[in-house]
Amino acid sequence: VDTPYIIGVDIGGTKIAAGLVSAHQVLERVVLPTLADQNAGVVVAQVFKSIDHVLEKSGRKVEEISGIGIVAPGPLNPRTGELIYAPNIPSLINIPIATLVSERYHLPTLVENDANAAGLAEALFGAAVGFRYVFYVTVSTGIGTGVIIDGQIYSGKNGMGAEAGHVTIDYQGPLCSCGQRGCIEVFASGKAIVRRTREKLESQIGESNNRPVATSKILDLVSGNLHQITPAVVAEAARSGDLTAQEIIHETATYLSIWLGGMINIFDPEIIVIGGGVSSMGDLLFDVIRELTPKHSILPKAHEVIITPAKLRDDVGILGAATLFATMKEA
Ligand SMILES: [Zn+2]
Repeated sequence: VDTPYIIGVDIGGTKIAAGLVSAHQVLERVVLPTLADQNAGVVVAQVFKSIDHVLEKSGRKVEEISGIGIVAPGPLNPRTGELIYAPNIPSLINIPIATLVSERYHLPTLVENDANAAGLAEALFGAAVGFRYVFYVTVSTGIGTGVIIDGQIYSGKNGMGAEAGHVTIDYQGPLCSCGQRGCIEVFASGKAIVRRTREKLESQIGESNNRPVATSKILDLVSGNLHQITPAVVAEAARSGDLTAQEIIHETATYLSIWLGGMINIFDPEIIVIGGGVSSMGDLLFDVIRELTPKHSILPKAHEVIITPAKLRDDVGILGAATLFATMKEA
């Protein structure tokens, strides 16, 4: 039997990425703007367009494709294929995206939360191959999670489970985009790292009145413009020895460790895979997480849990979407 061709579509807040996937390889990819500020019809049309472009670019006919996998953030129902609500795409409320896509292309269409699907891809052919109990985290703009048990996504009664990025570690902490206070996302996401860095530099600059102005490598890297700080800038400054940047990363690792200790208490995983842009901080982040996480778990074997960077990088959204067909029980 030939390896099937699957089209994977990753609907994000700013862009839609679609790709032709075969044997866990992305053969062709297309990226379009989501047009998130427009009505649902426009956004759905962008999804269609991304699929059309992948077909055109690859020279494949619809009949050669075995299925279309779609991933999106936020609460959605993988059983009905409906997008319930997407945090950064306000018009997408109760959109039956699987039905709309399958009616247009006459292909089986599956829908899943982006982090759940990414975790599945890591478990089946990424960093967690061979492990039965996998906890996956993506730390990028926000924090997404997936729990994969025996090569299957665990997603609970309504298919919406494993939203551990919105587990709070401080009920009096900063307000999160979800309306709660102190979620791990509001402390350790890429957005949070940027905010905390800016606050720290602002307070240093404030304290240095009438004294020499704060000198941080971070300020050099952004030419003094605090609005240009990114997690990559913080990582670069930390590597070059900047103490403020190193402090920020150490704090980030500490927050993640406190939270991951709790995740170990709940799931007793064999392996924790950390992906997303922030994970490219590498050993600066992972050394501290590996040291501290077991201290925040009550499980006596918590120190045996492997904590490792994700293997699948830029294409993980498209690959995750296509991987939904790997565990499909019914067409
Ligand atoms: Zn939250």
